[in-house]
Amino acid sequence: MRTVAVHEDVVVAIGSIWQTTCTAVRAGGEGFLIDSPILPAELEALPRLLDRAGFPVAGLLVTHADWDHLLGRYAFPGASVGCAESTAARLAAEPDAIAGELREFDEEYLIDRPTPFAPPEPQALPVPGRCSIGDRELELYPAAGHTSDGMAIWIPWARSLVCGDYLSPAAIPELSPSSAIDGYLATLERLEPLIAQADAVISGHGEPLDSTQATAVMREDIAYLEALQRDGIDAPLPPSRRTGGQR
Ligand SMILES: [Zn+2]
Repeated sequence: MRTVAVHEDVVVAIGSIWQTTCTAVRAGGEGFLIDSPILPAELEALPRLLDRAGFPVAGLLVTHADWDHLLGRYAFPGASVGCAESTAARLAAEPDAIAGELREFDEEYLIDRPTPFAPPEPQALPVPGRCSIGDRELELYPAAGHTSDGMAIWIPWARSLVCGDYLSPAAIPELSPSSAIDGYLATLERLEPLIAQADAVISGHGEPLDSTQATAVMREDIAYLEALQRDGIDAPLPPSRRTGGQR
């Protein structure tokens, strides 16, 4: 797991599997951890790593209800979890499916967890809306399309956007359900003004990007999604991620 400081109050840890990111943010002596790494050793290392860097963790936030972003309680047991209403609804509606996907992954890679996974019972936050942290506020934006749920988090004083699984430099847009192209495009359009003024755009998978890099990924993704709408699965992949694995 590598860490990248994108601002004095924002640090990103990038996990070894799928380059899954988690982001610690702090203000006025309070801090949150957004999303999670996947591997048990990475989760175990997080509390010490963040403590040493001076990032307190008063609670967890999750961008969406895919299992690979929900593992923060392994690092911070008992921490409260905040998420969009849409994500809370998904966690309540399909806890077994979410836990089952993690179990399948762990079985395939022979990963042992200290305790069985139970999806959190979160606190639903108003989205669009704000969430206070210390003496400041995070801004929350709806972000459906990758999945039916989710939120993007804008950290105004750090000009950082934590956007869940959008704008990944490592992975092409993934849609669930596959008919969600319009929703995905609408989310990119909603995020565009934030991307334009961001110092850092932090995707759920891959390196943090600057505004220019994130805009390039956004343009490629829009072109890909429009081609997908027009031509179906024959659409050429975004040039920067045209790999066998992504195909
Ligand atoms: Zn993900």
